[in-house]
Amino acid sequence: GKGAAMVTAVAYRLANQHAERQRILDKLRLSHDQLLEVKRRMAEAMERGLSRDTHGNATVKMLPTYVRSTPNGTERGDFLALDLGGTNFRVLLVRVRSGKKRSVEMHNKIYAIPQDLMQGTGDELFDHIVHCIADFMEYMGMKGASLPLGFTFSFPCQQNRLDEGILLKWTKGFRATGCEGQDVVTLLKDAIHRHEEFDLDVVAVVNDTVGTMMTCGYEDPYCEVGLIVGTGTNACYMEEMENVELVEGNEGRMCINMEWGAFGDHGELNDFCTTFDHAVDERSANPGKQQYEKMISGMYLGEVVRNVLLDFTSKGLLFRGRLSERLKTRGIFETKFLSQIESDRLALRQVRAILQHLGLTSSTCDDSILVKEVCTVVARRAAQLCAAGLAAVVDKIRKNRQLEHLRVTVGVDGTLYKLHPHFSTILRQTLRELAPQCEVSIMQSEDGSGKGAALITAVACRMRNEAK
Ligand code: BGC
Ligand code: MG
Repeated sequence: GKGAAMVTAVAYRLANQHAERQRILDKLRLSHDQLLEVKRRMAEAMERGLSRDTHGNATVKMLPTYVRSTPNGTERGDFLALDLGGTNFRVLLVRVRSGKKRSVEMHNKIYAIPQDLMQGTGDELFDHIVHCIADFMEYMGMKGASLPLGFTFSFPCQQNRLDEGILLKWTKGFRATGCEGQDVVTLLKDAIHRHEEFDLDVVAVVNDTVGTMMTCGYEDPYCEVGLIVGTGTNACYMEEMENVELVEGNEGRMCINMEWGAFGDHGELNDFCTTFDHAVDERSANPGKQQYEKMISGMYLGEVVRNVLLDFTSKGLLFRGRLSERLKTRGIFETKFLSQIESDRLALRQVRAILQHLGLTSSTCDDSILVKEVCTVVARRAAQLCAAGLAAVVDKIRKNRQLEHLRVTVGVDGTLYKLHPHFSTILRQTLRELAPQCEVSIMQSEDGSGKGAALITAVACRMRNEAK
């Protein structure tokens, strides 16, 4: 009778809604062939960045770092390191011992960089950094000491020497004026002189990927790739000097800071981008820039998720179709939340508690299931895209050496990689599928960026002393 017809109508509507949701989510699911295509395009972009003729117009800049050798264990001494551009700004004292007691000991302090300093003037930003260094030296009881310093500066920099870094463009929400096009070592030194309290010998400017590779390389000589999946994403690897056309000389290898986050800025990812990605990009601090990064890294994934949820809600497929002010608020989904919600130990009840904590109070049990599914799909796409890039890198190393089979280690750091319950598993699985001729070990670095800057500084000081 009438009841049965109503049940059928409800079932029909539910099935339709389910299909509609899956149709939307399918746009965020990439096939093996699509991922192979991403790998192929990344390989092409790498060639363009390396070659002198095409470098100027390349999206993936493939920047020479002037890091040529990994530590050999004879480095020693005390070094200062700065780490700017990740989740935290830190100042570190790193004590490197050689010989039998070969070890690295670190002390560090975290300092906040307030939003208005990230977006104020460069002088204010660098004055703050120097202020933090001064505070740290006092805190460590080494006021007045002049130590060699390694500066982990995790933004794209053009380097003509190890101790120079010309900022090409800010990323990850930094916008301080008067810095782009400038050498960050000069900006730092000028600020030190304004402060008139101490002097520092800035020996190296280091990208966080390079620091991570070096840190892992200290323990594993097969480590020739560095990867960061944190606030932003990027990779570096050891390239043959003969392929590094921007630097004279054909002997040996040099570490290349790929700056792969900018992949896609000339449309290389257009066929895989969704309306959600466009929405995230448009409202970011750098529209049109860092497309690949915006599909992978912690600073943006929560926003991708939120945009999917907004779309679902406005179509009546979620939260009973009620668009809350909360859901319309940018930045409510932090990386932390993405990791929590996908934790297998979490019962749905707890997912609901997290949503409530976010102010999304009208959620039902089905809503919780759906939100979790959205998080899963978005994080999976990120890990797979990242694996496609990495597959291009390890295969390039393999081909450079004319090997059938390559064994290589990738040093990894970054909050998203470390905290997300499934990211690393999906990355490794996908990498095996996309680069079957490479046997890749992944090594998580402990405090890679700061420690690595000190190690690079230590190597440079060793070589400087040997030359004397
Ligand atoms: C920067 C890279 C950095 C990466 C990870 C990107 O936004 O451009 O230099 O390595 O973030 O921190
Ligand atoms: Mg870091």
